[in-house]
Amino acid sequence: MDIRLVNLTKIFADKNSEVRAVDNLNIDIPSGKLIGLLGPSGCGKSTTLYMIAGLHEPSSGQIFFGDEDVTALPPERRGIGLVFQNYALYPHMTVRQNIMFPLQNMKLEKDVIAARTIKYARLVGIEELLDRKPKQLSGGQQQRVAIARALVKEPKVLLLDEPLSNLDARLRLQTREEIRRIQRETGITTIFVTHDQEEAMSISDEIVVMKFGLEQQTDAPQKVYDNPKNLFVAKFLGTPPINVFSGYVHDGGLFIGEDRIGDTNLSDQEVTIGIRPEGFEVSEEGIMNIHVKQIERIGRDMSVIAVNPFSEKDTFRFIIESDVELQENTDVKVLIKPRKCFVFHKVTEERLQ
Ligand code: ADP
Ligand code: MG
Repeated sequence: MDIRLVNLTKIFADKNSEVRAVDNLNIDIPSGKLIGLLGPSGCGKSTTLYMIAGLHEPSSGQIFFGDEDVTALPPERRGIGLVFQNYALYPHMTVRQNIMFPLQNMKLEKDVIAARTIKYARLVGIEELLDRKPKQLSGGQQQRVAIARALVKEPKVLLLDEPLSNLDARLRLQTREEIRRIQRETGITTIFVTHDQEEAMSISDEIVVMKFGLEQQTDAPQKVYDNPKNLFVAKFLGTPPINVFSGYVHDGGLFIGEDRIGDTNLSDQEVTIGIRPEGFEVSEEGIMNIHVKQIERIGRDMSVIAVNPFSEKDTFRFIIESDVELQENTDVKVLIKPRKCFVFHKVTEERLQ
């Protein structure tokens, strides 16, 4: 089931204030894909999800499931499964009863209900826990029960709102792989809300990056990383984050301080330059002068903290292979890889090159 959001807007208003939580969102979500809805806290991710679910009424705009306009349909008639950050299981019921619960108003045969419950418990890997109560489960197990409960009605769409936030780091990793596997096995169109860029990048077919209720960019994660539309998107994706410098264009050259770090067709102006941490190469022919302050070795890679002598207040961090000869407290020259270097308008922060 593909989903289409058309000019979708939600304004929360009271006497004193007005919040445009979601501002004129236009997104096509292809059938069978996992879409990551990504952005900082408060950017409108949950509000978007709740409008798709039918829990919030849009201020304007439309929501289509396939060809059907579902904007006015109540949640129970939309064919969606929802999973929230806090598992929200019924504490007095067993795992089995929790998973079965959504089926009980559906007038299904008892053995059909039992079979489906087992099918989805097996799918999420909690078959042997069916007779336990939620409090006898770990956070990761509870979240799997919540996912099974969302899937048991065999919805057309699965909506997940920060489903891993309450898990510790190891479980978060494991559970996100599980979610990806379950999504692939069922082929269910899934929207996964998170503020964690690494999480969204690692499991999504496409990500939608949002800021202040506005869609910034939508594409495959690697494409957004390699081709950010603006400085916000460039800064939001990547660990370590992109390095940002004040620079300028002069006579076809791109400058940071006195160093001509690359070529450009842009007209003379002040710009903001972003360089990914993997965009630096130590070389005799280097054009950017840097001072190496500190080196951290992490496996095959070396993380280097450096300063540019022309903008001395800012340290920046780059990643190179650990066999490169480099000493702390020395000056070196580096080349900048053009494909890892982005130029942004000083004021609008839109990408220029
Ligand atoms: P996110 O999920 O990305 O953190 P939300 O969608 O929850 O963001 O919120 C987006 C904006 O809308 C925020 O500024 C938030 O304070 C506001 N907001 C969310 N829900 C309500 C509500 N029920 N009433 C008023 N404002 C709300
Ligand atoms: Mg939220």
